Amino acid sequence: MLVYELGDVVTLKKGHPCGENKWEIMRTGVDIKLKCLGCERQIWLSRMEFEKRVRKIKEGEKFVSIVHHKKEEA
Ligand SMILES: [Zn+2]
Repeated sequence: MLVYELGDVVTLKKGHPCGENKWEIMRTGVDIKLKCLGCERQIWLSRMEFEKRVRKIKEGEKFVSIVHHKKEEA
């Protein structure tokens, strides 16, 4: 199981309609709350939906593939 923390910044398969595709994790659990870093709108995704859509996660100054992140957590 992937571990996400509050404040992690991720990209999703599809960006927000505002044009941004960076999201900050605001809440974790059964549902995940994300904030768009472009327009600050907040959305809820079920954990399953989130894990289907998430593509990259920010580590330090760069984004790495979520698959890579998974390996490091294992
Ligand atoms: Zn937005």
